Amino acid sequence: MNKVKTSLLATGIGLALLNGCSDDSITAQKENEWFKQGQAELQNALKRKNNTDTAKNVILFIGDGNGVASVTATRIYQGQAEGYQGEEYQLSFEHFPHMALSKTYNTNAQTPDSAGTATAMLSGIKTKMGLIGVNDSIERGDCQGALQNQAATLLELAELSGRATGVVTTTRITHATPAATYAHSAERNYEDDSKLSGADQEAGCKDIARQLIEFPYGDGVDVAMGGGRRHFLPKNVSDPEGKFGKRRDQRHLIEEWQEKYPAGRYVWSQRGFDRVDPEKTDKLLGLFNSSHMEYELDRADDVGGEPSLAEMTGKAIDILDNDDDGFFLMVEAGRIDHAHHAGNAKRAIVDGVAMADAVQVAMNKTDAEDTLIIVTADHSHTIVLQGYAQRGNAILGLSSGVDSKGRPLKTPTLALDGKPFTTIVYANGPGAHSHGPRPHPVDKEAQSDNYQQQALIPLESETHAGEDVAIYSRGPWAHLLNGVVEQNYIFHVINHAAELGAEK
Ligand SMILES: [Zn+2]
Repeated sequence: MNKVKTSLLATGIGLALLNGCSDDSITAQKENEWFKQGQAELQNALKRKNNTDTAKNVILFIGDGNGVASVTATRIYQGQAEGYQGEEYQLSFEHFPHMALSKTYNTNAQTPDSAGTATAMLSGIKTKMGLIGVNDSIERGDCQGALQNQAATLLELAELSGRATGVVTTTRITHATPAATYAHSAERNYEDDSKLSGADQEAGCKDIARQLIEFPYGDGVDVAMGGGRRHFLPKNVSDPEGKFGKRRDQRHLIEEWQEKYPAGRYVWSQRGFDRVDPEKTDKLLGLFNSSHMEYELDRADDVGGEPSLAEMTGKAIDILDNDDDGFFLMVEAGRIDHAHHAGNAKRAIVDGVAMADAVQVAMNKTDAEDTLIIVTADHSHTIVLQGYAQRGNAILGLSSGVDSKGRPLKTPTLALDGKPFTTIVYANGPGAHSHGPRPHPVDKEAQSDNYQQQALIPLESETHAGEDVAIYSRGPWAHLLNGVVEQNYIFHVINHAAELGAEK
């Protein structure tokens, strides 16, 4: 008995001192799987040592719109897909030793947009909605003002430090989040020259696609992959998948890139991508779609074929790793956000799984001793996991609870209107019914690919949400990401870890 008491905790204050703990119940508690799991987790945490070496490589993963509820849903979905109950499953980045909460608001918005949040993470300053790599002293759209108010980015500083640099995304490569790595713009929608006035262009304002091709630092962005071909092609020029360009200036920026980097590889399809030998490539431009790349759920249907986020991440690392000075890589799972806007949780979740797979590739290809990996989201969405579903209930299905004795029920729980409901709903968006009562959801339909979860407030597009998002980290100085932090702090941790010298 005493042995049990003293072995439980070094202090000797063990479970046995509590009233009502019989020897049997103490043994049962100690041998309980959750007790053992908690002890194992504690032992792991006690072994952790802070890594204060310089980060040779930095990889920043941004799940666009991948808030905490979205991550939980993704975890349960993937766990269930692999045959578990789901709740206990851990996504790749959930094994990271450190984490913090990120406050995502923009300087003029309680609930932010991706331009302002990307600028916070990549330039170290918060700014207004819609602005990319520019401080908040100007009004949105004031492109001449923006020329005087640019904020340096991590990718620019990494180029100047001699590192290789890369940007990988499933959105257009000119979309807000990837743009904030290499561009400065008073308006996120200046993806090509068609929305820039003649006067603005004469004053020196450049659209975002042009800024990627004309990137002025180091030897240019080494790896850029995503969608968005239309912003690089003249209006009357068709791409290989039959879609026309949008540029009014008639410039063919892909050809210009090829002239600038004769040894570089430009690819637009899965076949071309597969043929790129990382050992023999130090510059890669991949534009796999006219607009955004496909959702992971629809990727197999693409005309020219598209690589997965994990494949792009792996290839990018293999190429960037050729540089002995190290690299900076930003990877965005950009379409989690778009699926949420559409009120379609399944596509958001499957893209979330694709991001976790990409992080796993990055973990396998790098060493935690010299590579800082940060996984975060730019902002949240209004997805909610609600109701009292029983353990292991299909995460996309109708909610079935437990009876008064705690045993699983076989029929869905009914709301006051006599109808069942799904665990996942949205606070607003296209899944709301402004006219008449809400429909009676059916389980099979709810779990189908195109289902739009029910929502409260009817809006054409579901919106971002304003609560904090998580930051997961591993590698040199990862422990600095701790507590509740402002989103722009991420820049300062990376700058410190990789010694990019921004504070000088
Ligand atoms: Zn969004």
